[in-house]
Parts: sequence; C-alpha cells; structure tokens
Amino acid sequence: MAYNITLIKGDGIGPELAQAAKMCVEATGVKVVWDEVEAGIDVMAKEGTPLPERTIESVRKNKLALKAPVTTPVGTGFRSVNVALRQVLGLYACVRPCKSYEGVRSKYRNIDLVIVRENTEDLYAGIEFKQGEEKTKKLIDEISALGGKKILPDSGISIKPISIQGTEKIVTYAFEYARKHKRKKVSAVHKANIMKFTDGLFLEVARNVAKKYTDIEFNDVIVDNMCMQLVQKPELYDVLVLPNLYGDIISDLCAGLVGGLGVAPGANIGADSAVFEATHGSAPKYKGLNKVNPTALILSSVLMLEHMGELEAARKLEAAVAAVIKEGKRVTYDMKPDRNDPTAVGTREMAEEIAIKANSKF
Ligand code: NAD
Repeated sequence: MAYNITLIKGDGIGPELAQAAKMCVEATGVKVVWDEVEAGIDVMAKEGTPLPERTIESVRKNKLALKAPVTTPVGTGFRSVNVALRQVLGLYACVRPCKSYEGVRSKYRNIDLVIVRENTEDLYAGIEFKQGEEKTKKLIDEISALGGKKILPDSGISIKPISIQGTEKIVTYAFEYARKHKRKKVSAVHKANIMKFTDGLFLEVARNVAKKYTDIEFNDVIVDNMCMQLVQKPELYDVLVLPNLYGDIISDLCAGLVGGLGVAPGANIGADSAVFEATHGSAPKYKGLNKVNPTALILSSVLMLEHMGELEAARKLEAAVAAVIKEGKRVTYDMKPDRNDPTAVGTREMAEEIAIKANSKF
C-alpha cells in the first residue's frame, strides 16, 4: 500500500530540502504518492496568498505532510504561514527531539531531550492591537476602567491567552509521549511567579495532569532558571512541556546544545493531521545554492515514518543519517571542522549519500 503524503515545498532553501528529504524517504522502501503543493513568498507572488486553500485541503485530506521552511515577511500584512497552518489544522503539539549525533560539532555530548511545545495559544494566538489605532485606545481605556494597571497611551498590545483545555491537551500529550517512548521525567516550564493567571494556570493544570501519571517523574522549573540549567546540566532533563513562546525559544537553545539548527527536526501534531518540519527557517541567502544541510528535514522525515508506524524504515533512515554524519566525509560545509573545507558536498550530494545507506542492508 502506498501512503498519500503532502509535500509542502516552501521557499528559500525549502524546495531543495523538500527534494532531498523525499529522496531519502523513498530510499527506505516505503511507498509514497506525494502531493507536491506550495506555500510561502514564491506562491504569494503568483496567487496573492502565501497559504493557498489547496495546500490546506491537501493536508486535511492526506492527514500527513512533510513541510519545508517558509519565509515570514516582516512588516507586511501577512501573518506567518507556519503559525496559520498550525492554527487552521489544530496542530496543538510541537515535538522537537534534540539528540547528539557523533560527528556533529558541539560543546555537549550525549544530549537526549524532547521539547513538547504548545502550538496554538499564548502570545502566538495572533490577538494583537496596533499602536495608535482607535480600538487599541479603547482597549487601553477599558483595562484602566476595569481596575487594571495603567498602560501608556502610545503602546501596542499583544494578548496572551492560556486555557485549561489547551494546557490539559499539551501536558497529557507530553506524558503520553513519555510513556510511549519510555522516558522517565516530564518537566513543566513556566513563569508562574510573574504571570499568575496564564503561566500560573498552566502550572496548576500541569500538576493536576501529572497526578494521573504516577509512573513518570514530574517537576516544574521557571523558564529563566531552565535556560541556565539546560546550559549547565542538561542531563537532569528528559521531556520538557512548555507554553508556545517559551517552547519556541527553548527549542532553539536545545538545538544549539546538539550542534545547531542544521540537525534539529520537528513534528506538529493535531487530533486529525500531522505536519513534519525542521526547526530552522528558509535561510533565503542560501536559496538555490545547493549548500545547506538537509539533515533536519530528513530527521523530520524519520519522525514522520515513526508516526506512520513504519518503525523499521525510520530506524534505517536515522541510522543512515547518523553514519553519514559520523564518517564526516560527504557532509555539507556546516558539518566540517573548517567551514571553508573544499571537500564539503552540497545538499543533494549529502542526501544521496544518506539515501544510499538507507537503501542498503544496514
Ligand atoms: P533560519 O533558520 O532560516 O536561518 C538562520 C541561519 O541558520 C542561516 O543564515 C544559516 O546560517 C543557518 N541555517 C539554517 N538552516 C540551515 C541549514 N539547513 N543548514 C545550514 N545552516 C542553516 O532563520 P532566520 O534567518 O531567522 O529566518 C529566515 C526566514 O525563515 C524568516 O522569514 C523566518 O520567519 C522563517 N522561519 C520559518 C520557519 C518554518 O518554516 N518553520 C522556522 C523558522 C523561521
């Protein structure tokens, strides 16, 4: 049986990475019928929207997508395609495993952390009031009348909603993930000492959910302290569950622990569909140069294969990635000790090497 999977080609370095990851998935022997669709600034130039309805419909239908990075233009009327996709499809959990691979240059070894980030609420909900607009002035007056603190009249405002339902779902997902993957500990990360009604609620709900999972250790850590602890003693942590904004920031910190954005994969999971994508963005300056590291999107494909229940294919592909990185020969410039090393290969060549290994009896 062939799987129907949506391939969102993205923009910037996206299309090259999409082709690289597609080749590697096919090399595992899993049969896929790809529906190649567009999102981002290239399609926006043609169709006037960075997220065509056809792209959303394809993911709804197939329930599975591999997504290459997409640029979010700064200062235009368009919100992020990535945020919009997560909200439209209800992809409430963003899962980002951060694992050390031998051969990747990093100050740390043996890192094995999983970030579970809430994906739809918090300051990313897109409820914003622009400085100077009439409705912003009304809101400032309303808050003052309700007995809230005074807000300076020339302020812009972003709203941070965190709900019981949203938090229950994400914390339950983190515990279920921990159980399924034989993880020992879940840590909730927050700033409940300052934001009592949002982060405080997140913490209270997390503590309640944790009571149902007596087989898994639970603790909570304030986000600033967590940043320091992850840098000083990352081995203390296992699965981290966080509201949206902290999850975004800590994901990049953890990507840094394992050698950078080039090797950090991710999954966005909803009740109906799942979209797999790298943590990194579209790196527009490298567009079309066949230069950047394909590992993060290929490792995102490994997460997708696991999600599909194709465990042997996932194992083969991850082992192939690990072997190519460990050998350190047919790898991109960023994986070489000297970034100007002339023996570095391009995106396509590194992916081909991974595909050859994934295809062989490994
Ligand atoms: P970025 O991740 O695109 O690039 C930052 C730097 O990281 C690059 O200049 C490059 O040096 C390095 N890098 C990133 N990916 C790499 C790879 N595969 N191999 C080697 N080096 C790599 O971050 P940015 O410059 O802040 O963002 C560019 C655009 O991407 C923005 O529009 C941003 O909104 C968007 N973005 C999209 C996603 C997504 O699609 N999920 C995620 C993050 C950022």
